[in-house]
Amino acid sequence: MATTTTVFSNIPKVSLTHGVTAIEKMSRVSELFPSYNLFIKRDDCTGLALGGNKSRKLEYLMADAIAQGADTIITCGGIQSNHARQTAAAAAKLGLTCHLVLEPVAGTPANHYADSGNMLLNHLFGAHCHQVKANDSCVDTMSNLAIQLKKEGKKTYSVPLGGSNVIGSLGYVNCGLELAKQISEQALNIDCIVLATGSGGTQAGLLAGLALAGVDIPVLGICVSRSGFEQEELVNELLQKLLQFIDIPNQVAREKVKANGDFYGAGYGIASQAMIDAVTSIANLEGILLDPVYTGKAMAGLLSLAKNNKLIGKNILFLHTGGSPGLFAYQDVF
Ligand SMILES: *Cc1c(COP(=O)(O)O)cnc(C)c1O
Repeated sequence: MATTTTVFSNIPKVSLTHGVTAIEKMSRVSELFPSYNLFIKRDDCTGLALGGNKSRKLEYLMADAIAQGADTIITCGGIQSNHARQTAAAAAKLGLTCHLVLEPVAGTPANHYADSGNMLLNHLFGAHCHQVKANDSCVDTMSNLAIQLKKEGKKTYSVPLGGSNVIGSLGYVNCGLELAKQISEQALNIDCIVLATGSGGTQAGLLAGLALAGVDIPVLGICVSRSGFEQEELVNELLQKLLQFIDIPNQVAREKVKANGDFYGAGYGIASQAMIDAVTSIANLEGILLDPVYTGKAMAGLLSLAKNNKLIGKNILFLHTGGSPGLFAYQDVF
């Protein structure tokens, strides 16, 4: 199986990833939990610039930008945004100029945060980095920048926060189809899927892709920035737009959209002890690198739920959405 399953042949897509990502069993972590087998799908190894979930979304977003004749990509995020880094890399590969609008995040480490990790890579990819001024919003700063660049004759294309619109989410519809195929071919009998959920496109796309494949496996998002209810509403809104956009008969009911807001600690990007413990133990036991902002907190949630026997079924799959370059910006806490 060398290529990614693609359904929307009428929608432009550029190739940025290496194709199907592996599913591995986390054997040593599983030994800690007699009631569970834990598996991990390695979307941290998508292939572009140290990997991550945004590469799948960018295959559609960048194709849309090119189809619209853009020569300049603008996007936004926190200073250590993985999305910004993958966008900068994609733009470099495609010969497009990239502008990143980056926001300070309160409560993040004093050292290395502004210049190491993803920031170091943004510079290597030749991206132009702009800091959002205190009291200004990312969205306003992005649209002002777009106006200015257009005046200078640039053809700009703005990618929303996290690449989470219907176009970007198509990358995870494909991932849902890919995963359904792997589960069947490898006879994995997965009972529940757990992932980190932020801007929502990954979870929305995955739910749509699984529905399209006719696979009914519960998906649990672990929130990184807001309450479970608010996150479910955000994901559901995008999911319903996405289902309409891809025009499939499959419906996904609101109650299929599940998010748990108990594990993001003091806020987005702020280190928690549970995150530090989860990142450390997955590195120690499996040789796998999580990240401080998303997958570390999601894994902290998975481990806590597993410990308390609160996960549905026996075979649990964690979708590793990437982010390990961020570890270098959190050197202070490890
Ligand atoms: C962006 C990101 C997520 C969250 O994905 P969304 O589609 O924004 O919900 C999860 N993990 C990592 C490492 C990310 O960079």
